[in-house]
Amino acid sequence: MFDTLSDRLTSVLSNLRGKGKLTDADIDATAREIRVALLEADVALPVVRAFIGQIKERAKGAEVSQALNPAQQVVKIVNEELVEILGGETRRLRLAKNPPTVIMLAGLQGSGKTTLAGKLALWLRKQGHAPLLVACDLQRPNAVTQLQVVGERAGVPTFAPEPGNVSPAPLSEGPAPQGVGDPVDVARRSLDEAKRAQHDVVIVDTAGRLGVDEEMMRQAADIRDAVTPDETLFVVDAMIGQDAVTTAEAFRDGVGFSGVVLTKLDGDARGGAALSVRHVTGEPILFASNGEKLEDFDTFHPDRMASRILG
Ligand code: GDP
Repeated sequence: MFDTLSDRLTSVLSNLRGKGKLTDADIDATAREIRVALLEADVALPVVRAFIGQIKERAKGAEVSQALNPAQQVVKIVNEELVEILGGETRRLRLAKNPPTVIMLAGLQGSGKTTLAGKLALWLRKQGHAPLLVACDLQRPNAVTQLQVVGERAGVPTFAPEPGNVSPAPLSEGPAPQGVGDPVDVARRSLDEAKRAQHDVVIVDTAGRLGVDEEMMRQAADIRDAVTPDETLFVVDAMIGQDAVTTAEAFRDGVGFSGVVLTKLDGDARGGAALSVRHVTGEPILFASNGEKLEDFDTFHPDRMASRILG
């Protein structure tokens, strides 16, 4: 996903090689080229500004290293600032002291939530946990079945309303009736099921819409209030460009989340939005998905991603 950006940054930085001493003009010129590369890669403007500001300040400052030549110092600064923009330290999933840990997934339809639920379940199972998937997306007719299918592939059971009891009512026609077809009720009952069957992690899949929608936000907030998640993960398709940032802001304000999952990092879009979400929302990126298979998923490491981008 970051091939073009990576090529651009590598070439800008390699122009500095061989220079004995860098003047302020050299640094300004390099900063300008980095700025253009980031903007062309779709990185959000406030993020570009913060990033460039830091690079200039640090590169012009008195960071003198005996071990590195001036060009290497700039590369080091760019690398460190990229790590910082991506969140600094790796942020691990928080598990509750008193199980079950409740993880709620929120995001637009098509962002990859259901696939992620399966990926996360498999990942947790491989670490010795006993997850339970919970089907609270009762809007899309196939969502429950789709979750059950990924659950089976991950070797993890799915808690879902009985077939036929899935609410067919669209969100805009008001809340679903209380009962098995009500996503809030399903979420609540899943906690009893987790305790009964000794699941130590509960992963709640929620309904998404194609665009940000008040009813969807309210439903997600109601589910959140019913299960008080230890982690609410905002799932975002890295291919949607600048919309990733506006969607993230809408979810932060409407539902709130404790972490971000970037999906579809295997795509060939410009991907700069993925680099912006952390800085814009202030919440860390916990995981990255890079394919349709359940194994195409891992913890997000800001330092590894920065190294990948800088080649
Ligand atoms: P949901 O509507 O948010 O539950 O999204 P889905 O989990 O149904 O995913 C939507 C589509 O994106 C499906 O076709 C998935 O196979 C695909 N998908 C999910 N994650 C990834 C990913 O990391 N990479 C790629 N290439 N496709 C993905």
